[in-house]
Amino acid sequence: MAQRDKKLTAAERRAGEVIDRFGLTGPPVPLGDICRALGLTVRVRPFEYVAGVFINDDVFPVIVVNSRERRVRQRFTIAHELGHYFLGHGGKSFAEPGGKGSQERDAERFAACLLMPGVWVRRYWEAYAANQENRLSILAELFDVSSAALKRRVKELTLRGSARVEI
Ligand SMILES: [Zn+2]
Repeated sequence: MAQRDKKLTAAERRAGEVIDRFGLTGPPVPLGDICRALGLTVRVRPFEYVAGVFINDDVFPVIVVNSRERRVRQRFTIAHELGHYFLGHGGKSFAEPGGKGSQERDAERFAACLLMPGVWVRRYWEAYAANQENRLSILAELFDVSSAALKRRVKELTLRGSARVEI
């Protein structure tokens, strides 16, 4: 996946490497398995103001996501924290949303590419071409992401028919 497009950013490339490393071939991406394999603990807490926290501790690295948010939001936050992890961002702790810095942008990019690899999105988008009205929600369910996140990804991948996407 990585060699095909030289314009990929580091975040995109790294997400593709994780997909390959875990031998993943289709949605949804098993974030729990990935975190377990890395020794990363995932917990939920009812936070007031943050979507999630990542304590990148050498001994006990932990991701805590907000139990008040929808599952798909929690998944995106976990994928975002995995971005900080895999992109080797300095710092021992991250709280989300983490602002507009380049590390945050890269972690967002990584999350989108990890949860919605371009090749997979294209494949399913084509497969459901006959069902234009519902394919956004069908794919969102398959990929276990929000419709908004999927819509952004589809637009970014400039897929045919994306102009007709309505949610
Ligand atoms: Zn972040």
